[in-house]
Amino acid sequence: MSATNLIDGRAIADEIHAETAQRIATLTARGIEPGLAFVRVGEDPASQVYVGMKERWSARLGIASVTRVLPAEASEVALLQLIETLNADPRFHGILVQAPLPRHIRAARVYAAVHPGKDVDGFHPANMGRLLLGDTGGFVPCTPAGVHELLKRSGVPLEGAEVVILGRGNIVGKPLAALLMQKAPHANATVTVCHSATRDLAAHCRRADILVAALGVAEFVKGPMVKPGAVVIDVGVNRVADPTARNGYRLVGDVAFAEVQPVAGRITPNPGGVGPMTIAMLMHNTVSAAERAADTTAAPGGPPGGQA
Ligand code: NAP
Repeated sequence: MSATNLIDGRAIADEIHAETAQRIATLTARGIEPGLAFVRVGEDPASQVYVGMKERWSARLGIASVTRVLPAEASEVALLQLIETLNADPRFHGILVQAPLPRHIRAARVYAAVHPGKDVDGFHPANMGRLLLGDTGGFVPCTPAGVHELLKRSGVPLEGAEVVILGRGNIVGKPLAALLMQKAPHANATVTVCHSATRDLAAHCRRADILVAALGVAEFVKGPMVKPGAVVIDVGVNRVADPTARNGYRLVGDVAFAEVQPVAGRITPNPGGVGPMTIAMLMHNTVSAAERAADTTAAPGGPPGGQA
């Protein structure tokens, strides 16, 4: 296969951003400015980069964003109090707490503290539950939602397809499995989820029509693990030492791209595949949160943080 078998995540993300910009224009015409609050704890360099990228996309699209930074030694209570304040502030339709959190903070407690209506990351138990139930009224975590959109918009058939997902993490593997197995249009796949206890993982990979690597192991998927013609989606972001690089490391995916690309039917580049889609879906979710808040102002209980 040549470079033409690439699934261009940047181009598809731009398509979604253009749709999001249209929706923002409609909200603006109604006098509503979508707002997004980022919360960062400590000075993890990767988190700084990720939040910076999300801030820039917010500004480009017309989403008002603020970033609140707590010191690495901040207590869990202090973080929960900050989230409470943001939950109650009607300027913010979405709240994103950047992972990873320091070890002394229980991430599950923090995600559960974000108001489900502002949970644009989709990690609140209510939103995870809705996803599992096939209820489309919640928020879907951004990376799995991005993978799903990539597949849909690239015209990859999902109905009845054998999908193998490597990794059962709460952020990618598990929610992606739930999305692709739904009895719904652009889903309805037969999904196998592999993890560290899976026997003969390579054999599972070889029968996949669609292979999604989300395990966080650099270049784990090799050429012989891929069925010729399969669609390969590389979610991984791994740092590997590289003395020739300015920072002393480079980023690689979970797929050994050079040897898998010639075997695959379609494949995501990395970078330029899933990463841009994650940001596009965050912006999409934020605008959905603003639209829902605007449309429920008169509903009992009103919008999260609203006055109604
Ligand atoms: P995670 O929660 O740590 O989950 C990793 C999963 O992979 C676990 O289920 C683990 O199995 C499995 N695994 C690890 N090594 C394995 C091996 N050698 N064989 C089989 N299974 C193995 O990770 P995550 O948060 O889901 O993230 C996965 C990857 O996606 C990471 O590289 C992360 O950086 C990347 N990511 C990218 C984006 C993006 O926007 N591009 C967003 C989020 C995450 P066990 O459950 O048995 O331990």
